[in-house]
Amino acid sequence: MSTPTPARRVAVIGGGVAGCTLAEGIQRAWPHSEVILLEGHTHLGGLSVCAQPDEIGWDRFYHVVTPQDQHLLRWLERLGLRHRVRWRSVATGFYTDGRLYSLTTSLDFLRFPPLGLLDKVRLGLTILYAARTASGADLEGITAAQWLTRLSGRRTYARIWEPLLRAKLGSAHQQVAASFIWSTIRRLYATRQGERQSESFGYISGGYAPVFETARQYLTSLGVRVRCGFPVRGAEDRGGSILLHGPEGETVEADRVIYTGPSRLLTRIFAALPLPDALRRRADSLRYLGVICMVLKLRRAVSPYYVLNITDPSVPFTGVIGLTTLVDPVEVGGHHLIYLPRYLPDDDPDFDRPDEAFYQPFMAAMRQIFARRGFVEREVELWRIFRARYVSPLHVLHYDKLMLPVELLPGRLYLVNTGRILSGTVNNSQMIEEVERALPLVLA
Ligand SMILES: Cc1cc2nc3c(=O)[nH]c(=O)nc-3n(C[C@H](O)[C@H](O)[C@H](O)COP(=O)(O)OP(=O)(O)OC[C@H]3O[C@@H](n4cnc5c(N)ncnc54)[C@H](O)[C@@H]3O)c2cc1C
Repeated sequence: MSTPTPARRVAVIGGGVAGCTLAEGIQRAWPHSEVILLEGHTHLGGLSVCAQPDEIGWDRFYHVVTPQDQHLLRWLERLGLRHRVRWRSVATGFYTDGRLYSLTTSLDFLRFPPLGLLDKVRLGLTILYAARTASGADLEGITAAQWLTRLSGRRTYARIWEPLLRAKLGSAHQQVAASFIWSTIRRLYATRQGERQSESFGYISGGYAPVFETARQYLTSLGVRVRCGFPVRGAEDRGGSILLHGPEGETVEADRVIYTGPSRLLTRIFAALPLPDALRRRADSLRYLGVICMVLKLRRAVSPYYVLNITDPSVPFTGVIGLTTLVDPVEVGGHHLIYLPRYLPDDDPDFDRPDEAFYQPFMAAMRQIFARRGFVEREVELWRIFRARYVSPLHVLHYDKLMLPVELLPGRLYLVNTGRILSGTVNNSQMIEEVERALPLVLA
């Protein structure tokens, strides 16, 4: 007969996909324990869901599901929502030298005028090489810029890779390690399927908000207490336990705490706990990548591409995401949605500028890019700006040595957040995978 696990009080901080799947895993493994999920906002979902109130009618950032997102698909299965995933082939484009080019099929690639034949061959070989490299460990000590220039040549780096890196990382693009771009290439390469070799992407009908509503009910049915509107602001060392301070003097006491929020805020929240000094310094020194994203609600489809990469550095956003080339416009009342992300480091002063400051420059760039498609400002029915300062730590050189461990105070305090992703891009499936990797440590 197996010995029953002792009843413990476990608090998971953060109700994004990481927190939800952690609470689920812990409650399942320790059915006699009291597991509480604490979320600062009024609803679960973190960066995945829509804003409240939801004027856009969709997630505030854009989300795709890829056929490789098996951890996410299994979670949706457990929630009874797997049938909601819709698959589509989408197009990719490039805006370069003042023109729009499709780069969706192999034929598009062969025809792509900005690169000569030799450049194309080197670019193709770089992608193949990256896709077939099984581990990014050897790429932690070389920058993406150095690695890609070596493989593809200076011209292709300047014309293709640098704009793509800028699109993903903004002004931080020169500091990231090659392992970052290696994992991105692998994820995208794997989505190219079928005869046309176009990108096979999926979305969740209804968006992410209903997924997290179902997750809340599901967690409750397992016995997890879900408490929204509880931003954890501080923690007290109670010897054996940790007392978490929430709003208006409210507290929650737990024997074991798992934090899923940004590492940059860790030492502030857990200032009173005996964290090693070296760990504190590492947490405080991590630089984060954030995003400012404008969403446009339009009457017609202006961009035929799901992703339009932009090589012109004067454009104030780093890509154009034609969300409704993937999501059926019926899902958003027949409207068309365009997302204009601008990625930037967490200390960029743009985070402190008012929303209005972005409107004119963004519109001028939209008119310039879609001049031939007749884009005019009055087509915009609604625009909103969404910001996230701490999406994930910048994957700088030797990030593998800088990343924080899961066990911060063994037996008491743990960390599972986007900073745990070493070989992969930040996405919900990857986060669930990181949770599954961390669970044995959390439960030890
Ligand atoms: C622009 C953009 C595009 C994206 N595109 C995709 C995509 O195409 N596909 C995909 O799968 N994913 C995508 N993602 C990633 C996805 O939305 C999630 O950000 C990611 O999976 C991380 O989830 P998480 O649970 O770790 O963090 P988060 O989603 O950030 O959740 C963390 C939660 O913790 C809460 N929290 C933090 N601190 C505290 C505290 N002290 N007290 C209480 N609560 C706290 C926060 O309020 C939040 O709800 C995208 C994200 C962005 C920003």
